[in-house]
Amino acid sequence: MPGAGLVEGRTALVTGAARGIGLAIARILSEHGARVVLTDQDAALAAEAAEGLGGGAAVSSLGCDVTDEDAVTAAVGHAVERFGTLDIMVNNAGITRDATMRKMTLADFEAVVDVHLKGTWLGVRAAAEAMRPAGSGSIVNISSLSGKSGNFGQTNYSAAKAGIIGLTKAAAKELAPRGVRVNAVQPGLIRTAMTAAMPADVFAAKEADIPMRRAGEPHEVAGAVLFLACDLSSYMTGTVLEVGGGRLI
Ligand code: NDP
Repeated sequence: MPGAGLVEGRTALVTGAARGIGLAIARILSEHGARVVLTDQDAALAAEAAEGLGGGAAVSSLGCDVTDEDAVTAAVGHAVERFGTLDIMVNNAGITRDATMRKMTLADFEAVVDVHLKGTWLGVRAAAEAMRPAGSGSIVNISSLSGKSGNFGQTNYSAAKAGIIGLTKAAAKELAPRGVRVNAVQPGLIRTAMTAAMPADVFAAKEADIPMRRAGEPHEVAGAVLFLACDLSSYMTGTVLEVGGGRLI
């Protein structure tokens, strides 16, 4: 029904939106009436993804490496310039460089911490600058259950994803008086290119360990993000929603 979207007329920016969970988030926000800026480190892939959402005046795309301070500031500036406000910011971009600590290099550690933790911090900070004057806004950070339980072979990723939770809570305290909410989502095993890189037997063993006995789909994470982005969650800030099929209960 036109005009009945949960985020009708709001402006959203999603990082790492060219595919996977980020693209599903961009899609559901767009379906619910938001004007969406899709960013990814590959500008051409972000543009292709925006086209896939129907293009048009309410969708825009931009290349943005989330580890680049100027690029993140420019992406937020683009959203405000193009659509007038920034109401929703989703810090989603991510990478993995899995290895046990005996094999993990410092470069593997730093790359993952840079994209997830520094990238999210830069995104939260830039979005907050745009949202503070408006006195409203919702920031959603994508963490992972790996940041709660700690995954074998993911000392870098688990550390960064746990760090995102601390960052979310601290930022929520700073921004609550300004009307800006900051929350996080911790997905479990979700079917995307990131998890397609896992050996099939490892993926199957992980699925078998999930009470719901299946991996999740990107749109199932996107639903939780939409909830945190819209006014249905108007009294929630600093919270963490698990989307994991019951994995850690
Ligand atoms: P994908 O690898 O499918 O998509 C991630 C996107 O982020 C890619 O387009 C990637 O581009 C982009 N990206 C990577 N680095 C940067 C960067 N520096 N700046 C901007 N964009 C970048 O991953 P998912 O969709 O699976 O993951 C999305 C988020 O969800 C991540 O934060 C991930 O950690 C988290 N998550 C995923 C889970 C899963 O099971 N899939 C579980 C828990 C959390 P490129 O292709 O060029 O690398």
